[in-house]
Formats: sequence, C-alpha cells, structure tokens
Amino acid sequence: MEPVLSLQNIGFCYGQQRALAGIDLRLMDGEILGIIGPNGSGKSTLLNLMGGLLTPTDGTVSLRGRPLSELSRPELARDVAMVAQENYFRFAFTALEVVLMGRYPRLKRLQFEGRKDIDAAMHALDVTQAADLADRPIHELSGGERQRVLIARALAQEPRVMLLDEPTSFLDLKFKREIFRLIAALSRDTGLTVALVSHDIDLAAMYCSRLVMLKQGAVYTTGLPGDVVTAEHIGAVYECPVLVDTNPATGRPRTSLV
Ligand code: ADP
Ligand code: MG
Repeated sequence: MEPVLSLQNIGFCYGQQRALAGIDLRLMDGEILGIIGPNGSGKSTLLNLMGGLLTPTDGTVSLRGRPLSELSRPELARDVAMVAQENYFRFAFTALEVVLMGRYPRLKRLQFEGRKDIDAAMHALDVTQAADLADRPIHELSGGERQRVLIARALAQEPRVMLLDEPTSFLDLKFKREIFRLIAALSRDTGLTVALVSHDIDLAAMYCSRLVMLKQGAVYTTGLPGDVVTAEHIGAVYECPVLVDTNPATGRPRTSLV
C-alpha cells in the first residue's frame, strides 16, 4: 500500500540549531498516528514539516509520491488540513466565518463563497457538534468550543489528512475525551487519516493506532501503543520513572507516576 504521506531521511534546522535528524516515517491511509515525546523533542516541527508549513533542511516529504515542494499551496490544502497549537484571531470573526476560511483552497481565484461552501461549513460544524456556535464570536468561546470550531474549519477543507498539534492541551477531561472520540469517529466513518501530537500519553495510547516517540529530534521508537508505551521507554525518553500497566477498560497501556 502506498503511504499518504512519506518522510524520507528528514532533517530540519532552525538557523544553526538542529531540531530534527534522520526521520523516516510513513503515514498510511486511515490510520491515527500519535506523536509523543517531551517538550522540545521536535513534535511540532515534525507536524509542520508534514503539513508543508516548514520545508525540510534535508530529505523529502511526499504526498502520495509527489514531493510537497512540487505542490501549490491550494493543491496541498485540498488534501492536508492542519489544526495548529495556537490560534489567535485578531478580528471578531464568528465561528461560521472561521469555518468558511477552510473553504479557501477549494475556491477559484477571486471567487466568493457560495451556497455549497456555506453548506459544507455548516455540515462541518454539525459533525463537530458546534452548529449552535455558528454565530458566536470565536474569541468568546471556551477552549473546548473553540477547538471544535477549529476542527470544523479543517474538516470544511474536505481533506484526506488532518494534522493536529496538541488538540486537547487546554481542555478538561470531558472535552479531551470528546475531541479524541470525534477524531476516532472521523477516521472510522470517513477514512480520514490523522497525525496528532499529544502530551497525554494515555489518551494517545487509547485512541491512536500507532505511536511515534521522539527524543531530542529523532525517533526513539515507533509501533503499536502497547509496544511504545513501556516503563523503560518512558523512563529513558521523559527521564521520569513511571509504572505502566494495562487499563482494564480499554486493554491499552496506562501510565502512573511513581
Ligand atoms: P515540541 O513541539 O516537541 O515541544 P518543537 O518542535 O517546538 O518541540 O521544538 C523542537 C526544537 O526546536 C526545540 O529545541 C525548540 O527550542 C526549537 N525551536 C522550535 N521552534 C523554533 C523557532 N521558531 N526558532 C528556533 N528554534 C525553534
Ligand atoms: Mg509543540
């Protein structure tokens, strides 16, 4: 099977400072890939390279075999949508206006949004259970509401691949669970391919089909959640002793500080 996104021997430097080296990674159709690792290990940099927001210093990122450097921005955005870690809105956009921004890559030059785009935006808000927020100013929404709107914006792009950077970092337990369940449902029901960065090892292990654990800009280990999330790996990568057992409700690994 051809990977949707493939990263071959990727390296990245911010100026003189190396952030990533020797990354080989394939994102397969319909999978939910979780990227975990301590602060500064290169997770956001990796996700931004996958989404074409950064250009690799070494190696090539390809979308279905075509290097990202050969794709125009709208071409890339029709297949890959990004939900970034921080989103600031300087103007008082409504939730619906924010979601409509996701339609830009699908509009022709100088074309305004039409009925079809508004329908797609409303549908995306429906899917993320945010339709009742459509007319609310984005900056007045709670963290969980805003996150649902931002995921709706990405969905309105009708992408094949969604990249999310810490989509649940500011959310309480219930919203964390809801966002992960939403991502899992989208993947299951529509075949959406997902790569997400998460600080929550247990939730990532619960909802992701595969994990990549980064340490200091390199892949420390990758595989099934049960093979990646071990006390030995976490001790070595996070420099923190943990106990890992199996969550009896999910059969997935569960970490506890010791
Ligand atoms: P993570 O998301 O895992 O916390 P990042 O990908 O943000 O890690 O950062 C990886 C490394 O690159 C860190 O050492 C960080 O300080 C550095 N870095 C990130 N963004 C920049 C930037 N814009 N300029 C310079 N260095 C950066
Ligand atoms: Mg980050």
